[in-house]
Amino acid sequence: MKMPSLNTQILIGAILGLVFGLGMSTLAPDSATREISLYTSGLLGTLFIDLLKMVLIPLVFTSIVVGVANLQAHQQMHRVWMSTLGFFVFSMALSIGLALFASHIFRPGEGLHLAMFQNAMQGFEAKQMPLADFFAQFLHGIFVNPIAALAQGNVLAVVVFALILGISLIIGGERYRNILNLLKELLEITMQIVGWIMRLAPLGIMALLIKLVATQDVALLGSLGKFVAVVIGTLLMHGLVVLPLILYLITKVSPLKFWRGAREALVTAFATSSSSATLPVTLRCAEQHLHVKPAVAGFVIPLGATVNMDGTALYEAAAALFIANLVGIELNLMQQLIVFFTAMIAAIGAPGIPSAGMVTMVMVLQSVGLPAEAIAILLPVDRLLDTLRTAVNVEGDMVGSLLVNHWMKPKP
Ligand code: ASP
Repeated sequence: MKMPSLNTQILIGAILGLVFGLGMSTLAPDSATREISLYTSGLLGTLFIDLLKMVLIPLVFTSIVVGVANLQAHQQMHRVWMSTLGFFVFSMALSIGLALFASHIFRPGEGLHLAMFQNAMQGFEAKQMPLADFFAQFLHGIFVNPIAALAQGNVLAVVVFALILGISLIIGGERYRNILNLLKELLEITMQIVGWIMRLAPLGIMALLIKLVATQDVALLGSLGKFVAVVIGTLLMHGLVVLPLILYLITKVSPLKFWRGAREALVTAFATSSSSATLPVTLRCAEQHLHVKPAVAGFVIPLGATVNMDGTALYEAAAALFIANLVGIELNLMQQLIVFFTAMIAAIGAPGIPSAGMVTMVMVLQSVGLPAEAIAILLPVDRLLDTLRTAVNVEGDMVGSLLVNHWMKPKP
């Protein structure tokens, strides 16, 4: 008999987790069966989260160095760089703004207080700091000995060093080919390991859900439904209105014409939940259907597949606010700004593979002192939301390539 696909397995794991968890919540609180099952599922779930945390740094590092080094020197390099990065940052900022706005209006997760997080939340107050201190610390944390940054899991410093290393590899060209190849292989290996970890996802998700449902308020699921609706609504808003509007205003390419040209890549992204797997299709659409110059598409699309993720950025910001609501904490303006920036960094750092956003989410939560374990709550809906957010990620890359192509045209 053929094994069901990983997507199906994860769904089955989630359903079984819910059913067993509900079943267990009917057992007497101190029964041995309940104690043993809770201990086992707690252990399995934590191990799964540990595995995800284990690959975070190698993934961020190799995916950014290789993404940046994929650039080849060509004419107008400087302008292409600036306009590409400018658009990436701008569109991700818009999507995060949209997520924060929608979360404020609909407030998913509000009114629920999960006892489970009380321990993790105890240090919350201690992490607050004034704006000036925050910026001093932020700036101070950017340039760090890369070995220390890698060892300590300092994502921001790793991102910055990876960018610098990527640029120096481009400048060095052939001389450093071996190092670049080594890093490419490391990236492949790390992605392979993530693939293995994801195979454990059905079990890990089941275990986490059993523990969650058996020890938690079932009203959580109603609240999760609202979160899912907010994320989907905001993703559609960004993908169907914001991005096409920017494209139309600047290049006069109509949304219908764009979608017709981009359709193959959007559908592939939706089905694979991976910007990287979709990359060959995205490039084909940009060059052949949307008539972007190969030099521009060859630069913007691969870079975008690694660093430009509007959907992921939107999701990470919405998730952080959702979890804050869930644990009953009102994030102040400063903390929301931190979420804004870390969501962008987390989206940039997330490689284009399924559920990568979930791995880098840990950083966003920790930046405002929210418990990293809370991603357990999002796991059951992550794969579902990954489809749409990956499609929006890929759409952003194609819109970016069209814009850069437009700006690079010789002016009459
Ligand atoms: N799956 C997404 C992508 O490949 C990344 C994410 O998990 O958000 O673009």
